[in-house]
Amino acid sequence: MDPTPKIRVQSSSNAADVQATCASAGLTAAEFASLRDASAAAKERAYCPYSRFRVGAAVLTGGSGAGAGAGESVFVTGANVENASYPVGTCAERVAFGTAVADGHRVFRAVAVATDLETPCSPCGMCRQFIREFCDVNVPILMFDKNANFVVKTVQELLPLSFGPEALDPPRGA
Ligand SMILES: [Zn+2]
Repeated sequence: MDPTPKIRVQSSSNAADVQATCASAGLTAAEFASLRDASAAAKERAYCPYSRFRVGAAVLTGGSGAGAGAGESVFVTGANVENASYPVGTCAERVAFGTAVADGHRVFRAVAVATDLETPCSPCGMCRQFIREFCDVNVPILMFDKNANFVVKTVQELLPLSFGPEALDPPRGA
């Protein structure tokens, strides 16, 4: 078995790639472009003087479902925010979700992450679980490299055998 299976990286400028991604991810072409552009723009606002590893994230809210923000479709962004006490720093994905949730959103349709790397980079393990808290396991996570080439995986694919809020007693006051 190949220890490093090849993953085909798709191109944002390839209409067939974008079309196929939109079809499988339930996105319009405009939503795809906004996720790509918003995550890249958020990357520009990263505070990462220690790692110099810029990460931007964008989440698309709304869609069907109950809860605050249901039915709306807005983009909420985040960037990594580091700290002189290194472990205190926060990833872009958690900043984006924290901002969106604090704004009242509870329904999410897609997540995008952008870095300066040559190949698309996935959310860290902690962020995968953080995303799992607020997303159905079928929600797509779009990962863009520095040239806006991308790979898409679902929450389920990035975090198999996961548990979420449905596995626990409902938290009081939530
Ligand atoms: Zn992370």
